[in-house]
Amino acid sequence: MPVGKTVKPALAGLAFEELAALLTELGEPGYRAQQVFGSFWERGAPSWEAMTVLPAGLRTALVAQVDAAATTVVERQDAADGTSKWLLGLADGRRIETVLIPEGGRATVCVSTQVGCPIRCVFCASGVGGVVRDLTAAEIAEQVLHVRRHIGKRPSHIVVMGMGEPLLNLENLATAIRLWTDARGLGFSPRRITVSTAATPAGIDRLAALDLGVELAVSLHAPDDEVRRRLVPGSPAGRVLGLVDAAARYARTTGRDATAEYVLIAGENDRPEHAAVLAEALEGRHIHVNLIPLNPVGHRPDLRAPSGNAAHAFLAALQSRGVSATLRSRRGDDIAAACGQLALERSLGPVAGT
Ligand code: SAH
Repeated sequence: MPVGKTVKPALAGLAFEELAALLTELGEPGYRAQQVFGSFWERGAPSWEAMTVLPAGLRTALVAQVDAAATTVVERQDAADGTSKWLLGLADGRRIETVLIPEGGRATVCVSTQVGCPIRCVFCASGVGGVVRDLTAAEIAEQVLHVRRHIGKRPSHIVVMGMGEPLLNLENLATAIRLWTDARGLGFSPRRITVSTAATPAGIDRLAALDLGVELAVSLHAPDDEVRRRLVPGSPAGRVLGLVDAAARYARTTGRDATAEYVLIAGENDRPEHAAVLAEALEGRHIHVNLIPLNPVGHRPDLRAPSGNAAHAFLAALQSRGVSATLRSRRGDDIAAACGQLALERSLGPVAGT
C-alpha cells in the first residue's frame, strides 16, 4: 500500500466539465455543477462552507474531495494611491504576489505565473533568484478570486505581468484563462486579458495557435539586440526583430492588439538614437509602444529612471517617426507593487501621448 497524503484537486483549477464529472460520481444531480461553479467563480464564495446553496451533507463530502483554496492570503498591503498587493502562500510554503490597480472605473489585476522567473531582466526583482517552479492552473486562476472577494465584484481587467514568464508555463496559464472566461462562472472577456512575455517568437506563435483571444504585450526594453542582451540577459540572443515580427503576426492572425513594453532606464536605452533605432525596428508593424519609466529596484541601485524631460523627449522622438506610443505613470511605489515591476498596460490611461 502506498503511504502518504493523497493530493486533492483544487477547485480553482477544475474546468466546469471536470467538476461536473466529479459531482456525478458523488451521485449528485446535473444542476449541482452550475451551483458550485456559480458560487465559487461568480459570487466569490471562499470555502465549501460558504456555498450555502448546497446541502450541508454535500458540503462535508466535498471538503474531503476537493480543496476550495489553493492559496491563502498571508498579507495585503494597500498603497495611498489605491493599489493593493497580496502576498499569497502556496501549499509548499512558497510565496507569490498579486496586485490590484484601480484606475478611474477600472480594476486591473496583475497575476503571477511562476515562483521566481528565469528571464532575469536586470531591472526586475522577480528574476534575482531564478525560477523556483511553475504555478499550477489553480494557483494562477485563484489570484483573481482573492481580488474579486476583496472588491466585491468582478475586476475589469487582468494583466499577466506579475512574477514569472507566462509563456514558459503556457499550459497552466491557458487553463486559468479558460476558467476566467467561462461564461458559467466569472465570464471574463478575453479582450480584457493581456499576456505579457519576454520569451521567444515560438512561444508567441504557440499562444496565437491556442486562440484564447487575449491581448499580447511583448517586453522589448531595447531597440536592438546589443542593448537587449545587456538588459534581458536570460533571453536567447539576437531577437528584437524576431520578437516584433512575432508580435505583429500575433496581431494579424488573432485580430487582437499587440503592445511592446519598454522600461526606460537613464543612459541605457533612453537616448534619442535608441528611439530612432526602435522606430526603425517597428516600421510598418502595428505595434503600440508602452514606455514605462524605471521603478528603482534595490538590487541594482545603479539603474535610474530617466528625467521627466528625457522620457517625454523619447516619447516625442517615437511619435515624430509615426510610432504609436504612450508614457506610463508609476503606481504603487509606496508598497513596491509587484517588486516595482508593475507594468501598467495601455488601458490604464497615459500621462502623455496617444
Ligand atoms: N516575464 C513577463 C511577465 C512579467 S511583466 C514579461 O517580462 O513580460 C514584466 C514587466 O514588468 C516589464 O515589461 C516591465 O513593464 C515591468 N517591470 C518589471 N520591472 C520593472 C521596473 N523595475 N520598473 C518598471 N517596470 C518594470
